[in-house]
Amino acid sequence: MTAPMKFRTTGLARKLKPSALPALLAHAEEWGVPVTQEDGRFRLDLWGALAILAPVGEGYGIELGSPEELFLRALQDAISEAFAEQGAEISWTDVAEGALAPGLALMKLASAGLRSPGFLRLRVEGPEAPRFAAEHGLHFRLLLPPQDRAPIWPRVGPTGRVIWPRGEDRIHAPAYTTADQGADWIEFEVFRHEGSPTCAWLDRDPLGRMVGILGPNGGLRPEGAPLLLFGDETAIPAVSRILRLSAQPDARAWISCADPEDLGDLRRDPRATRATDLLAALERVETPQGSHVWFAAHASLARAARAHLLGRGLARTEFTVAAYWE
Ligand SMILES: Cc1cc2nc3c(=O)[nH]c(=O)nc-3n(C[C@H](O)[C@H](O)[C@H](O)COP(=O)(O)OP(=O)(O)OC[C@H]3O[C@@H](n4cnc5c(N)ncnc54)[C@H](O)[C@@H]3O)c2cc1C
Repeated sequence: MTAPMKFRTTGLARKLKPSALPALLAHAEEWGVPVTQEDGRFRLDLWGALAILAPVGEGYGIELGSPEELFLRALQDAISEAFAEQGAEISWTDVAEGALAPGLALMKLASAGLRSPGFLRLRVEGPEAPRFAAEHGLHFRLLLPPQDRAPIWPRVGPTGRVIWPRGEDRIHAPAYTTADQGADWIEFEVFRHEGSPTCAWLDRDPLGRMVGILGPNGGLRPEGAPLLLFGDETAIPAVSRILRLSAQPDARAWISCADPEDLGDLRRDPRATRATDLLAALERVETPQGSHVWFAAHASLARAARAHLLGRGLARTEFTVAAYWE
């Protein structure tokens, strides 16, 4: 078993406690990563890339392969982090020490305007915008360094793990959805709510400031027909994008949202309905063969939705449930 990919790297975790491998594999299962075992080696299929773990003495050799260098480096960070959680450090054959965190683009905030009572629409500009096209992933993290301090961006450390600034330099990093994207810009929509550091930052008129856009990550367009989408306000940009990309006439969306104007484009989309109770709507929906349920809302609703769908007997591949806020 080797990783026949354009970009490769290898590493060695010399010592692994007995409980570490089962914990790492449980992690993989949580992420929905298929794992196969052959001759004591484990192969993890990670969204087009591969990780192979092979026993070496008391530890494991790790081989990563990816068609894209950026994804290889992101994987190197994620795997180093997962091993570190198990008390094991990986010695890699090569590490891009000092480089910006894999996937981090520094972009300029070009505009921010009210798109509806509850939402601001923001545009950031920079040459890396094409990387955020929908086929690479729908979401990213917005990196906001603290006000009045020179930004310290996360960079790759000597062990392959990204070092994030701490203390006074800590970066706020909420997730957002790319609403639209062009040759040198991306746009996204921020739901305004009480206690939001992102909204407080926007109130300070940061036009022209550099922000970090880390990704894309956190999900591709769900596959299935029909798509059955459920979300609260924070999921409106994602639902809207998924409906546009899938172009399925029989897709359906249920959105809980206090002000109908915040539905944006979805107001004119006959496939979208406002729901006062997302869980009740989920419980009522029929899930025909081939359909895919997608649900994104507050963490407690996401937990309840996952339990309901599993209780109904749906396979994990037949639904996607995400906690969008806590
Ligand atoms: C994959 C993904 C994609 C997302 N896409 C979008 C998007 O496109 N647009 C968008 O607006 N959001 C989106 N979200 C949700 C967004 O990341 C969260 O709402 C995040 O908390 C916003 O950061 P903040 O700086 O506003 O507040 P935080 O610092 O994260 O939280 C501050 C306080 O606000 C509370 N809070 C957070 N969200 C809400 C809310 N919706 N209503 C009321 N209180 C809240 C928290 O509980 C906390 O007490 C997405 C989340 C995920 C995981």
